[in-house]
Amino acid sequence: MKLILLGAPGAGKGTVAKMLTAIDGSVQISTGDILRAAVKDGTDLGKKAKAFMDAGDLVPDDLIMGIMKERLKEDDCKSGYLLDGFPRTIPQAEALKVMLTEMGEKLDGVINLSVPREVILDRLTTRRTCVGCGAIYNVKSNPPKVEGKCDACGADVVQRDDETEEAISNRLDVYNEKTAPLADFYRKEGNLMDIEATSSDVVVAAIKSKLGM
Ligand code: AMP
Repeated sequence: MKLILLGAPGAGKGTVAKMLTAIDGSVQISTGDILRAAVKDGTDLGKKAKAFMDAGDLVPDDLIMGIMKERLKEDDCKSGYLLDGFPRTIPQAEALKVMLTEMGEKLDGVINLSVPREVILDRLTTRRTCVGCGAIYNVKSNPPKVEGKCDACGADVVQRDDETEEAISNRLDVYNEKTAPLADFYRKEGNLMDIEATSSDVVVAAIKSKLGM
């Protein structure tokens, strides 16, 4: 499948993407994960992106399109991809459209996950992420077996720098202003599926039945 997962930070895009890749062998492409790896490795990209990310602001479109132009050409994309956290602005969506046309590719759909703001705030402040493999935990509902260590790879499980209350509140405002309009963009293109993101199992079941996976 070739899908875009839209939804506010904390809507569960990453978790749903991981579940879907396990079903059809497609690859999850998270611009957030790519950027965090660049920051950790201290690359040029990471140095340019870090301040925006820490404040919960968007990284400029040209940097993001530079990443995606390369990423979508990689071999593993041939078995399909789930775009998680990209596109985030109308110019990114327009640029993606041009890129896909040039590559002769077509998306199977755009999933729009909706979650109430209170649920998101609670989820994000209690969310923890593995610095090694990106696995996602929650201190209340899904803590790692050994506190602070990833069940899967043993690396540290931490709170992201952009998951302080202040950065989260800014990320949600940025989402409403810059990213929420993408739902209308794709609705007009005719391939939007609105799904209420109650639990990831329910979301995955709804996507599977809608897309006949
Ligand atoms: P995420 O893990 O998707 O929430 O992304 C973490 C941070 O990376 C965001 O708050 C942005 O600063 C940056 N980021 C990730 N994807 C994008 C994108 N498509 N456009 C702009 N900034 C992005």
